[in-house]
Amino acid sequence: MSDNDRNAAQFPPSEGAEIRDTDIMFDCPECGKSLVIDYRGAGLQIECSTCGAKVLVPIPEGMELSDLDLDPGEILKQLFATRKNFQKAELEIQSLKARLVQLQETLGVMQQVIAEGLSLS
Ligand SMILES: [Zn+2]
Repeated sequence: MSDNDRNAAQFPPSEGAEIRDTDIMFDCPECGKSLVIDYRGAGLQIECSTCGAKVLVPIPEGMELSDLDLDPGEILKQLFATRKNFQKAELEIQSLKARLVQLQETLGVMQQVIAEGLSLS
């Protein structure tokens, strides 16, 4: 995966960079790291620069998403990024489901072994 695939690419949380009045500051819900993001990132999903968790950028109080005044190209880019994240999540769900089936099969085999062991004793 290249950095361009990351949703955060357009609004990377700046590390130690100058904080502007318009920036949104919030804590990563996973690792607690303070994240700073351009106000245009409000309501977007980004990846935490520390733990990589997907976090939703809070929308500051009193701010309307329509205030963001994004140009259509930027909105499209965000749409594509969101869709890509969605597809990624779908793939993760599929692989987790496959893993669940495997685990259930393993569990079934183990239960059978135990049942056989009990009937022998
Ligand atoms: Zn984090």
